[in-house]
Amino acid sequence: MLSAFLKRWLLGPDEATQQHARIKRYLRTSSNYFAALIPIAFAAAVGVSPTFVLQLYAALIIGANLFFYCAFRTGLNLRFKDRSLSLMQTIVAIAIVLICQIFAGSARSFWVLSLMMIFVFGGFKLSGRALRMLTFTTLLAYALTIPLARIVDGTAYRLEYELLLWLNFAFFLPALSWTAGEFGRLRRQLANSNAELQVLFAEVSHAASHDSLTGVYNRRFILEALRERLADAKTRGLSCCVCLFDLDGFKQINDLCGHDGGDVVIQAFARTAANDLPPDDVFARYGGEEFLLLMPNATLKAAQDQAEHIRQAFERQRHQIEGHDIGTTVSAGIAELRPDESAVDLVRRADQALYRAKALGRNRIEFG
Ligand code: GH3
Ligand code: MG
Ligand code: MG
Repeated sequence: MLSAFLKRWLLGPDEATQQHARIKRYLRTSSNYFAALIPIAFAAAVGVSPTFVLQLYAALIIGANLFFYCAFRTGLNLRFKDRSLSLMQTIVAIAIVLICQIFAGSARSFWVLSLMMIFVFGGFKLSGRALRMLTFTTLLAYALTIPLARIVDGTAYRLEYELLLWLNFAFFLPALSWTAGEFGRLRRQLANSNAELQVLFAEVSHAASHDSLTGVYNRRFILEALRERLADAKTRGLSCCVCLFDLDGFKQINDLCGHDGGDVVIQAFARTAANDLPPDDVFARYGGEEFLLLMPNATLKAAQDQAEHIRQAFERQRHQIEGHDIGTTVSAGIAELRPDESAVDLVRRADQALYRAKALGRNRIEFG
């Protein structure tokens, strides 16, 4: 309860947003600043570096973190192209370390290690160009701190030692930032291919269960759904109906308007039937111009009303195809599930009823 309140207060109310994720990432990174207080306090306690460094570091990180947190919470970061403010955060972190290092006395080598850590973190997020620029300017800025440290440190200062430290750093930093940058690039590449794979997977799943011409479910999907619903209907003793539709005189439409024209009529019927169905019903293209409607929990009367509604709606429609004004009808056969009946037998009875509807003159519904 308290942690939920604290989370809401710290991160903002809207959990689903990218901004929320950014603030969360920022807080995770910023905790490193505060963790570094432990060795710095230790260095002050044992007298390796002055207490002033601890105070200076604490003041700088509090100021910097307050600034960045406010920038994220007020949405100021959204005005920048780099919305995570990665480059700005890295520059500020490097600046804090370099300033503290001037006053750190014999603990200066510790701060060099901190610079390395900043490049490891930054490398994951920054572009190669930004990393190269940062590597160069950091080496330059670090070199400039060497004479400043001499002014602060006085007699304890040893130039050879400071130069050795800088040379070592200058030798390793380019390799380190290049390696970190490569990891970052690989990570971004992996994230991109992951996102592409997810889209592809969604497309393949959709194609496996849907008909490409009409967009409604395909035969494979409805047969699977039928098996599941029948098992459910049997265990719970519920009724279940199926209705098989077949467009009337469809060959003539194909002959008159061509195959593409026929497709337009098939699409129109699918749209009409799929429109306004109860949520539990499953409607699919069963074959060429045949469609199957599965109505779980429906009584024979409810199924008849639903099928009749579709038949009448389709009968009223006109289709303008290749200069022809086409109107056609649909016949249907309905069957209600019998105890211990298989899916195949249930559809077969609906098909027999459909056959009767055709024989009795079409544009009508019969029962199996
Ligand atoms: P009936 O009233 O007895 O159903 O007569 P019908 O002319 O509709 O006869 P039937 O149902 O046997 O004919 C179906 C025709 O549908 C035959 C086939 O060429 C055509 N067909 C099947 N699949 C498609 C398709 O995807 N697009 C088009 N345009 N035609 C198709
Ligand atoms: Mg047919
Ligand atoms: Mg037909």
